[in-house]
Amino acid sequence: MSDDATSLPGQAAAPGPATPASMDAFWMPFTANRQFRRTPRLLAAAEGMYYRDVEGRQILDGTAGLWCCNAGHARPRIVEAIARQAATMDFAPHFQMGSPLPFELAARLKELAPRPLDHVFFTNSGSESVDTALKIAIAWHRARGEGQRTRLIGREKAYHGVGFGGFSVGGLPNNRKWFGPGLPGVDHMRHTLDIARNAFSRGLPAHGVELAEDLERLVQLHDPSTIAAVIVEPISGSAGVILPPPGYLKRLREICDRYGILLIFDEVITGFGRVGAPFAAQRFEVTPDMMTVAKGLTSGCVPMGAVFVSDRVHEAFMQGPEGAIDLFHGYTYSGHPLACAAALATLDTYAEEGLLARALELEDYWADGLHGLRSSNPGIIDIRNYGLIGAIELAPQDGAPGARGYQVLERAFRKGLLVRTTGDTIALSPPLIVERQHIDDMFSMLGEVLATV
Ligand code: PLP
Repeated sequence: MSDDATSLPGQAAAPGPATPASMDAFWMPFTANRQFRRTPRLLAAAEGMYYRDVEGRQILDGTAGLWCCNAGHARPRIVEAIARQAATMDFAPHFQMGSPLPFELAARLKELAPRPLDHVFFTNSGSESVDTALKIAIAWHRARGEGQRTRLIGREKAYHGVGFGGFSVGGLPNNRKWFGPGLPGVDHMRHTLDIARNAFSRGLPAHGVELAEDLERLVQLHDPSTIAAVIVEPISGSAGVILPPPGYLKRLREICDRYGILLIFDEVITGFGRVGAPFAAQRFEVTPDMMTVAKGLTSGCVPMGAVFVSDRVHEAFMQGPEGAIDLFHGYTYSGHPLACAAALATLDTYAEEGLLARALELEDYWADGLHGLRSSNPGIIDIRNYGLIGAIELAPQDGAPGARGYQVLERAFRKGLLVRTTGDTIALSPPLIVERQHIDDMFSMLGEVLATV
């Protein structure tokens, strides 16, 4: 596909930065820091489909970094765009002024999104996108004279980032329980992972559409006129890949429409080609009122997020007096020039190389290889796939949940493969430049590792 996609030149050259002499100053996020410091895995370089660690070993990227480097690593067009922009204008204030870049980028993004998601608010991360969308939802109802609509509904096992809004609507116990009650007025629907009924489904699971009725139940419990928004990931990634049963998202849309509730899709992982369309909303043919994105927006090169907002939601904020600020919200780095330059070059790369359709082209090949791993370990209790996403779930070891998952991560890394784990679930989401040979290599290494745990 691209000349830099198959190998990492300079393998024999001197490795990058060595392991630092002291590792205790940097507090790594979401990491068992003490364990990591004893057995560090340090990445020093990346190109195409591969990382190189500080010892110079090549590691096939099975996870597009953290679900973000969809165009692969160190793509020259993106690298050059960032460098050029840094030399031209590093930063532009956006308080009643701005640079042309975010205007250009928003117009390009609008072309990619489903109608009527015609307006774009820029943030710096998925977490900020989620909190921004939740705030817009509450403010929208207030702008329309329904200030009592402040309740938010999320889902169990959901991950919506780490902001106060995001963890409140999120449903991962470890991300919530340390940090107090979070936002008031938040409820959770049940998640749609049902291994007993759906184990080893290919693509979407057959059972569970009735779980969408949880929304109807919560609406009735609280009175619809108190509910501002429902937020879901079309496919939950961080909880170990949870897929929606056919018809589930459509049913949420119907219930939201019926009661005047806004529907937000968190597409931080599913956006930008991960499921074989620009956004999962298009593949599932359900259009939300807002859509949060990040990660693949810049192919992970520069931090950036965004919220797509429908015409109807945006319009309500444009009704105030001319000259009045229409939304008291924003970040110093909203629409940062370097991030915009990276995003524009990323969109060009996606378009030129057909990357946003690639997951659809490879979906069957990917699913065949992934499900072929079932025989590699008798402890595999489920395999899930969609687009270029895969998950393999292992039964936990007695008394040590997550231990087998960690073993797989650690042994795969040593073998030269990067995987992501959540507990005992191994998740895969390669860069969209992946070739069949990479997929074969990935599953061959993973099969060997799974056989040892
Ligand atoms: N929403 C979803 C669905 C995510 O998967 C993530 C991160 O993985 C986030 C939000 C948070 O994004 P960030 O880590 O950029 O804040």
